[in-house]
Amino acid sequence: MIVFNNPPFTGKEIQYMQQAAAENKKICGDGPFTKRCEEWMCAKFGVPASYLTTSGTSALEMAALLCDIKPGDEVLLPSYTFCSTADAFVQRGARLVFVDIRPDTMNIDERLLESAITEKTKAIAVVHYAGVSCEMDTIMDIAKKHHLKVVEDAAQAFGSAYKGKPLGTIGDFGCFSFHETKNFSMGEGGAILLPDLSRRDQAEIVREKGTDRSKFFRGQIDKYTWEDYGSSYLPSDLNAAYLWAQLEEYDRVRNDRMASWNYYNEELKDLASRGCFTQPVIPEGCIHNAHMYYIKLEDLETRTRLIRHLKEHDILAVFHYIPLHSSPAGLKFGRFSGEDRYTTKESERLLRLPLYFGLTEEDCAAVCSSIKDFFS
Ligand SMILES: *Cc1c(COP(=O)(O)O)cnc(C)c1O
Repeated sequence: MIVFNNPPFTGKEIQYMQQAAAENKKICGDGPFTKRCEEWMCAKFGVPASYLTTSGTSALEMAALLCDIKPGDEVLLPSYTFCSTADAFVQRGARLVFVDIRPDTMNIDERLLESAITEKTKAIAVVHYAGVSCEMDTIMDIAKKHHLKVVEDAAQAFGSAYKGKPLGTIGDFGCFSFHETKNFSMGEGGAILLPDLSRRDQAEIVREKGTDRSKFFRGQIDKYTWEDYGSSYLPSDLNAAYLWAQLEEYDRVRNDRMASWNYYNEELKDLASRGCFTQPVIPEGCIHNAHMYYIKLEDLETRTRLIRHLKEHDILAVFHYIPLHSSPAGLKFGRFSGEDRYTTKESERLLRLPLYFGLTEEDCAAVCSSIKDFFS
Protein backbone atom coordinates (compact mmCIF):
# COMPACT_ATOMS: atom_id res chain seq x y z
CA MET A 1 0.00 0.00 0.00
CA ILE A 2 1.32 3.46 -0.90
CA VAL A 3 -0.44 5.89 1.40
CA PHE A 4 -1.10 9.48 0.44
CA ASN A 5 0.72 11.03 3.41
CA ASN A 6 2.94 10.00 6.30
CA PRO A 7 3.71 12.60 8.96
CA PRO A 8 7.38 13.62 8.78
CA PHE A 9 9.64 11.98 11.36
CA THR A 10 13.38 12.56 11.15
CA GLY A 11 14.67 10.75 14.25
CA LYS A 12 15.26 13.08 17.19
CA GLU A 13 11.66 14.15 17.82
CA ILE A 14 11.07 11.87 20.84
CA GLN A 15 14.47 12.65 22.37
CA TYR A 16 13.71 16.38 22.26
CA MET A 17 10.22 15.90 23.67
CA GLN A 18 11.76 13.86 26.49
CA GLN A 19 14.22 16.68 27.05
CA ALA A 20 11.42 19.24 27.22
CA ALA A 21 9.58 17.22 29.87
CA ALA A 22 12.38 15.70 31.97
CA GLU A 23 15.30 18.15 31.66
CA ASN A 24 13.85 21.55 30.80
CA LYS A 25 10.76 20.84 32.90
CA LYS A 26 8.92 23.19 30.60
CA ILE A 27 5.97 21.82 28.71
CA CYS A 28 3.75 24.91 28.51
CA GLY A 29 4.20 27.46 25.74
CA ASP A 30 7.19 29.68 24.97
CA GLY A 31 9.78 27.29 26.38
CA PRO A 32 13.31 26.78 25.02
CA PHE A 33 12.24 24.72 21.97
CA THR A 34 9.64 27.32 20.97
CA LYS A 35 12.32 30.02 21.20
CA ARG A 36 14.71 27.95 19.08
CA CYS A 37 12.12 27.40 16.36
CA GLU A 38 11.19 31.08 16.34
CA GLU A 39 14.81 32.23 16.18
CA TRP A 40 15.43 29.74 13.37
CA MET A 41 12.52 31.15 11.36
CA CYS A 42 13.60 34.76 11.94
CA ALA A 43 17.12 33.95 10.70
CA LYS A 44 16.00 31.76 7.80
CA PHE A 45 13.34 34.13 6.49
CA GLY A 46 14.90 37.43 7.53
CA VAL A 47 12.05 38.75 9.66
CA PRO A 48 12.31 40.49 13.05
CA ALA A 49 9.54 38.48 14.74
CA SER A 50 7.90 35.09 14.36
CA TYR A 51 5.62 33.19 16.73
CA LEU A 52 4.65 29.56 16.90
CA THR A 53 0.89 29.08 17.11
CA THR A 54 -1.38 26.14 17.88
CA SER A 55 -2.27 25.73 14.18
CA GLY A 56 -2.16 27.37 10.79
CA THR A 57 -5.78 28.26 11.46
CA SER A 58 -4.88 30.13 14.65
CA ALA A 59 -2.07 31.96 12.83
CA LEU A 60 -4.69 33.13 10.32
CA GLU A 61 -7.02 34.12 13.17
CA MET A 62 -4.23 36.20 14.68
CA ALA A 63 -3.62 37.83 11.31
CA ALA A 64 -7.32 38.68 10.92
CA LEU A 65 -7.32 40.24 14.40
CA LEU A 66 -4.16 42.21 13.66
CA CYS A 67 -5.73 43.51 10.43
CA ASP A 68 -8.45 45.07 12.61
CA ILE A 69 -11.19 43.48 10.56
CA LYS A 70 -14.60 44.77 11.68
CA PRO A 71 -18.13 43.51 10.96
CA GLY A 72 -19.12 44.42 7.40
CA ASP A 73 -15.56 44.71 6.09
CA GLU A 74 -14.88 42.76 2.93
CA VAL A 75 -11.97 40.43 2.37
CA LEU A 76 -10.87 39.18 -1.04
CA LEU A 77 -9.72 35.57 -1.25
CA PRO A 78 -9.77 32.59 -3.58
CA SER A 79 -12.67 30.17 -3.31
CA TYR A 80 -10.25 27.36 -4.06
CA THR A 81 -8.67 27.07 -0.61
CA PHE A 82 -8.97 25.42 2.78
CA CYS A 83 -11.84 26.81 4.87
CA SER A 84 -9.51 28.31 7.52
CA THR A 85 -8.42 31.07 5.11
CA ALA A 86 -12.04 32.22 5.14
CA ASP A 87 -13.07 31.30 8.67
CA ALA A 88 -10.48 33.49 10.35
CA PHE A 89 -12.07 36.57 8.75
CA VAL A 90 -15.67 35.41 9.13
CA GLN A 91 -15.06 35.21 12.89
CA ARG A 92 -14.32 38.95 12.83
CA GLY A 93 -17.58 39.63 11.00
CA ALA A 94 -16.11 40.05 7.53
CA ARG A 95 -17.98 39.36 4.28
CA LEU A 96 -16.03 37.14 1.92
CA VAL A 97 -15.55 38.13 -1.71
CA PHE A 98 -14.29 35.15 -3.69
CA VAL A 99 -12.06 35.87 -6.66
CA ASP A 100 -11.45 33.36 -9.44
CA ILE A 101 -8.14 31.51 -9.74
CA ARG A 102 -5.57 31.31 -12.50
CA PRO A 103 -5.72 27.90 -14.16
CA ASP A 104 -1.92 27.59 -14.37
CA THR A 105 -1.05 27.86 -10.64
CA MET A 106 -4.53 27.51 -9.05
CA ASN A 107 -3.72 30.78 -7.22
CA ILE A 108 -5.93 33.87 -6.95
CA ASP A 109 -5.97 35.71 -10.29
CA GLU A 110 -4.31 39.06 -9.56
CA ARG A 111 -5.82 40.55 -12.74
CA LEU A 112 -9.31 40.17 -11.26
CA LEU A 113 -8.60 41.81 -7.91
CA GLU A 114 -9.26 45.44 -8.75
CA SER A 115 -12.73 44.79 -10.12
CA ALA A 116 -13.62 43.02 -6.84
CA ILE A 117 -12.62 45.96 -4.62
CA THR A 118 -15.37 48.10 -3.08
CA GLU A 119 -15.22 50.87 -0.46
CA LYS A 120 -15.71 48.12 2.15
CA THR A 121 -12.67 46.07 1.14
CA LYS A 122 -10.09 45.87 3.94
CA ALA A 123 -7.79 42.99 3.10
CA ILE A 124 -6.65 40.46 0.54
CA ALA A 125 -5.94 36.93 1.76
CA VAL A 126 -3.73 35.18 -0.76
CA VAL A 127 -3.01 31.45 -0.72
CA HIS A 128 0.21 30.11 -2.18
CA TYR A 129 -1.30 26.88 -3.42
CA ALA A 130 1.02 23.85 -3.42
CA GLY A 131 3.82 26.11 -2.18
CA VAL A 132 3.89 28.05 -5.47
CA SER A 133 3.74 31.81 -5.09
CA CYS A 134 0.93 34.12 -6.11
CA GLU A 135 1.91 37.07 -8.33
CA MET A 136 2.99 39.14 -5.33
CA ASP A 137 4.38 42.25 -7.05
CA THR A 138 1.03 42.99 -8.67
CA ILE A 139 -0.90 42.07 -5.53
CA MET A 140 1.23 44.30 -3.28
CA ASP A 141 0.91 47.21 -5.76
CA ILE A 142 -2.88 46.89 -5.76
CA ALA A 143 -2.97 46.63 -1.97
CA LYS A 144 -0.85 49.74 -1.61
CA LYS A 145 -2.94 51.72 -4.07
CA HIS A 146 -6.19 50.83 -2.25
CA HIS A 147 -4.78 50.80 1.32
CA LEU A 148 -5.53 47.13 1.88
CA LYS A 149 -3.81 44.68 4.19
CA VAL A 150 -2.33 41.53 2.68
CA VAL A 151 -2.36 38.25 4.62
CA GLU A 152 -0.33 35.45 3.09
CA ASP A 153 -1.79 32.04 3.77
CA ALA A 154 1.57 30.35 3.35
CA ALA A 155 0.37 27.19 5.12
CA GLN A 156 1.72 25.12 2.23
CA ALA A 157 4.63 27.38 1.39
CA PHE A 158 7.23 26.97 4.15
CA GLY A 159 10.57 27.48 2.39
CA SER A 160 9.17 28.73 -0.93
CA ALA A 161 10.15 32.06 -2.49
CA TYR A 162 9.04 34.71 -4.95
CA LYS A 163 11.72 36.76 -6.74
CA GLY A 164 14.17 35.96 -3.96
CA LYS A 165 11.79 36.78 -1.11
CA PRO A 166 10.63 33.99 1.21
CA LEU A 167 6.87 33.47 1.12
CA GLY A 168 5.23 34.63 4.32
CA THR A 169 7.46 37.73 4.48
CA ILE A 170 5.97 39.80 1.63
CA GLY A 171 2.51 40.76 2.89
CA ASP A 172 1.55 42.35 6.23
CA PHE A 173 1.35 38.94 7.91
CA GLY A 174 2.54 35.49 6.85
CA CYS A 175 0.95 32.31 8.18
CA PHE A 176 2.43 28.79 8.16
CA SER A 177 0.94 25.45 9.14
CA PHE A 178 2.83 22.59 10.80
CA HIS A 179 -0.05 20.15 10.56
CA GLU A 180 1.03 16.56 9.95
CA THR A 181 0.19 16.89 6.24
CA LYS A 182 2.62 19.78 5.76
CA ASN A 183 6.33 19.63 4.90
CA PHE A 184 7.41 20.22 8.49
CA SER A 185 5.19 19.23 11.36
CA MET A 186 4.56 19.43 15.09
CA GLY A 187 1.34 17.41 14.97
CA GLU A 188 -0.91 20.42 15.14
CA GLY A 189 0.76 23.82 14.93
CA GLY A 190 1.63 26.83 12.88
CA ALA A 191 3.42 30.15 12.92
CA ILE A 192 2.89 33.79 12.12
CA LEU A 193 5.64 36.05 10.75
CA LEU A 194 5.72 39.80 11.22
CA PRO A 195 7.67 41.68 8.53
CA ASP A 196 8.35 44.60 10.89
CA LEU A 197 8.08 45.32 14.61
CA SER A 198 5.21 47.83 14.44
CA ARG A 199 2.68 45.12 15.34
CA ARG A 200 4.84 43.17 17.77
CA ASP A 201 3.22 44.29 21.04
CA GLN A 202 -0.26 43.79 19.65
CA ALA A 203 0.64 40.34 18.26
CA GLU A 204 2.05 39.22 21.61
CA ILE A 205 -1.00 40.47 23.49
CA VAL A 206 -3.42 38.71 21.14
CA ARG A 207 -1.44 35.48 21.44
CA GLU A 208 -1.19 35.59 25.26
CA LYS A 209 -4.86 35.86 26.27
CA GLY A 210 -4.89 39.61 25.86
CA THR A 211 -2.07 40.16 28.37
CA ASP A 212 1.37 41.75 28.08
CA ARG A 213 2.92 38.63 29.62
CA SER A 214 5.50 38.31 26.81
CA LYS A 215 6.97 41.68 27.75
CA PHE A 216 6.91 40.63 31.41
CA PHE A 217 8.86 37.43 30.64
CA ARG A 218 11.45 39.50 28.77
CA GLY A 219 11.84 41.62 31.91
CA GLN A 220 10.59 44.79 30.21
CA ILE A 221 7.82 45.36 32.76
CA ASP A 222 7.50 44.24 36.40
CA LYS A 223 3.92 42.94 36.31
CA TYR A 224 1.54 41.91 33.58
CA THR A 225 -2.11 42.81 33.09
CA TRP A 226 -5.05 42.17 30.84
CA GLU A 227 -4.59 44.75 28.11
CA ASP A 228 -6.93 43.89 25.28
CA TYR A 229 -8.89 41.20 23.49
CA GLY A 230 -6.93 37.99 22.96
CA SER A 231 -6.90 34.24 22.95
CA SER A 232 -4.39 31.48 23.66
CA TYR A 233 -2.45 30.80 20.50
CA LEU A 234 0.80 29.43 21.94
CA PRO A 235 1.53 25.72 21.54
CA SER A 236 3.10 23.42 24.12
CA ASP A 237 6.90 23.23 24.09
CA LEU A 238 6.44 19.46 23.58
CA ASN A 239 5.10 20.17 20.12
CA ALA A 240 7.84 22.72 19.49
CA ALA A 241 10.42 20.07 20.45
CA TYR A 242 8.99 17.80 17.75
CA LEU A 243 9.22 20.60 15.19
CA TRP A 244 12.76 21.53 16.23
CA ALA A 245 14.00 18.04 15.38
CA GLN A 246 12.73 18.62 11.84
CA LEU A 247 13.99 22.15 11.40
CA GLU A 248 17.46 20.84 12.30
CA GLU A 249 17.02 18.49 9.32
CA TYR A 250 15.55 21.14 7.05
CA ASP A 251 17.73 20.39 4.01
CA ARG A 252 17.29 16.64 4.30
CA VAL A 253 13.49 16.93 4.42
CA ARG A 254 13.41 19.44 1.59
CA ASN A 255 15.72 17.47 -0.68
CA ASP A 256 13.85 14.25 -0.03
CA ARG A 257 10.51 15.78 -1.05
CA MET A 258 12.09 17.56 -4.01
CA ALA A 259 13.49 14.25 -5.30
CA SER A 260 9.99 12.73 -5.34
CA TRP A 261 8.49 15.83 -6.96
CA ASN A 262 11.15 15.88 -9.67
CA TYR A 263 10.78 12.16 -10.28
CA TYR A 264 7.03 12.50 -10.86
CA ASN A 265 7.56 15.53 -13.05
CA GLU A 266 10.12 13.78 -15.31
CA GLU A 267 8.38 10.44 -15.44
CA LEU A 268 4.95 11.86 -16.31
CA LYS A 269 6.19 14.25 -19.02
CA ASP A 270 5.40 11.96 -21.91
CA LEU A 271 1.79 11.39 -20.90
CA ALA A 272 1.38 15.12 -20.36
CA SER A 273 2.77 15.89 -23.81
CA ARG A 274 0.29 13.38 -25.25
CA GLY A 275 -2.48 15.45 -23.63
CA CYS A 276 -3.54 12.92 -20.96
CA PHE A 277 -3.27 15.55 -18.21
CA THR A 278 -1.43 18.75 -17.34
CA GLN A 279 1.47 19.10 -14.92
CA PRO A 280 2.07 21.82 -12.32
CA VAL A 281 3.32 25.18 -13.61
CA ILE A 282 6.08 26.97 -11.66
CA PRO A 283 6.18 30.57 -12.93
CA GLU A 284 9.47 32.36 -13.60
CA GLY A 285 10.97 33.70 -10.37
CA CYS A 286 9.14 31.25 -8.11
CA ILE A 287 10.95 28.65 -6.06
CA HIS A 288 8.61 25.98 -4.73
CA ASN A 289 9.05 23.65 -1.78
CA ALA A 290 7.76 20.36 -3.20
CA HIS A 291 4.73 20.52 -0.97
CA MET A 292 2.46 18.82 -3.44
CA TYR A 293 2.54 17.00 -6.75
CA TYR A 294 -0.69 17.16 -8.67
CA ILE A 295 -1.89 16.43 -12.17
CA LYS A 296 -5.02 17.80 -13.81
CA LEU A 297 -7.09 15.31 -15.74
CA GLU A 298 -9.49 15.93 -18.61
CA ASP A 299 -12.55 16.14 -16.34
CA LEU A 300 -14.19 14.95 -13.12
CA GLU A 301 -15.17 11.60 -14.60
CA THR A 302 -11.62 10.76 -15.69
CA ARG A 303 -10.33 11.77 -12.28
CA THR A 304 -12.85 9.52 -10.53
CA ARG A 305 -11.83 6.58 -12.73
CA LEU A 306 -8.11 7.18 -12.15
CA ILE A 307 -8.58 7.37 -8.36
CA ARG A 308 -10.40 4.04 -8.52
CA HIS A 309 -7.72 2.51 -10.74
CA LEU A 310 -4.93 3.62 -8.39
CA LYS A 311 -6.83 2.35 -5.37
CA GLU A 312 -7.19 -1.06 -6.99
CA HIS A 313 -3.39 -1.02 -7.18
CA ASP A 314 -3.06 -0.02 -3.51
CA ILE A 315 -2.17 3.59 -4.22
CA LEU A 316 -4.02 6.35 -2.42
CA ALA A 317 -4.35 9.58 -4.38
CA VAL A 318 -6.70 12.34 -3.24
CA PHE A 319 -8.31 15.57 -4.32
CA HIS A 320 -9.47 18.41 -2.10
CA TYR A 321 -11.19 21.76 -1.80
CA ILE A 322 -14.76 21.73 -2.88
CA PRO A 323 -14.80 25.45 -3.78
CA LEU A 324 -15.80 27.47 -0.73
CA HIS A 325 -18.30 29.67 -2.58
CA SER A 326 -20.50 26.64 -3.25
CA SER A 327 -20.31 25.29 0.33
CA PRO A 328 -23.08 26.05 2.88
CA ALA A 329 -20.87 28.43 4.89
CA GLY A 330 -19.47 30.06 1.78
CA LEU A 331 -22.98 30.80 0.53
CA LYS A 332 -23.86 32.28 3.91
CA PHE A 333 -20.77 34.42 4.40
CA GLY A 334 -19.71 35.47 0.95
CA ARG A 335 -20.24 35.98 -2.73
CA PHE A 336 -18.29 35.26 -5.88
CA SER A 337 -16.97 38.31 -7.69
CA GLY A 338 -17.55 38.03 -11.43
CA GLU A 339 -17.61 34.75 -13.26
CA ASP A 340 -16.44 31.37 -11.93
CA ARG A 341 -14.45 30.51 -15.04
CA TYR A 342 -11.82 28.28 -13.50
CA THR A 343 -12.40 27.66 -9.78
CA THR A 344 -14.97 24.88 -10.10
CA LYS A 345 -13.75 23.44 -13.39
CA GLU A 346 -10.08 23.23 -12.45
CA SER A 347 -10.78 21.94 -8.93
CA GLU A 348 -12.70 19.00 -10.40
CA ARG A 349 -9.73 17.99 -12.56
CA LEU A 350 -7.02 18.10 -9.92
CA LEU A 351 -5.54 14.95 -8.40
CA ARG A 352 -2.77 14.90 -5.76
CA LEU A 353 -0.27 12.05 -5.86
CA PRO A 354 1.35 10.54 -2.74
CA LEU A 355 4.16 12.81 -1.54
CA TYR A 356 5.82 12.81 1.86
CA PHE A 357 9.21 12.71 3.54
CA GLY A 358 10.54 9.17 3.12
CA LEU A 359 8.55 8.25 0.01
CA THR A 360 10.93 6.05 -1.98
CA GLU A 361 11.83 6.18 -5.65
CA GLU A 362 10.32 2.70 -6.02
CA ASP A 363 7.03 4.03 -4.64
CA CYS A 364 7.09 6.97 -7.07
CA ALA A 365 7.89 4.56 -9.90
CA ALA A 366 4.96 2.34 -8.93
CA VAL A 367 2.61 5.34 -8.91
CA CYS A 368 3.83 6.47 -12.34
CA SER A 369 3.57 3.03 -13.88
CA SER A 370 0.05 2.61 -12.57
CA ILE A 371 -0.89 5.95 -14.16
CA LYS A 372 0.74 4.88 -17.44
CA ASP A 373 -1.14 1.63 -17.26
CA PHE A 374 -4.41 3.56 -16.84
CA PHE A 375 -3.82 5.56 -20.01
CA SER A 376 -2.58 2.65 -22.14
C1 LIG B 1 -3.26 23.33 6.10
C2 LIG B 1 -3.82 24.61 5.67
C3 LIG B 1 -4.42 25.51 6.58
C4 LIG B 1 -4.70 25.17 8.01
O1 LIG B 1 -3.65 24.76 8.77
P1 LIG B 1 -3.94 23.97 10.15
O2 LIG B 1 -2.57 23.94 10.76
O3 LIG B 1 -4.46 22.63 9.79
O4 LIG B 1 -4.89 24.77 10.95
C5 LIG B 1 -4.84 26.74 6.11
N1 LIG B 1 -4.72 27.08 4.82
C6 LIG B 1 -4.18 26.23 3.91
C7 LIG B 1 -4.08 26.68 2.48
C8 LIG B 1 -3.74 24.97 4.30
O5 LIG B 1 -3.23 24.15 3.38
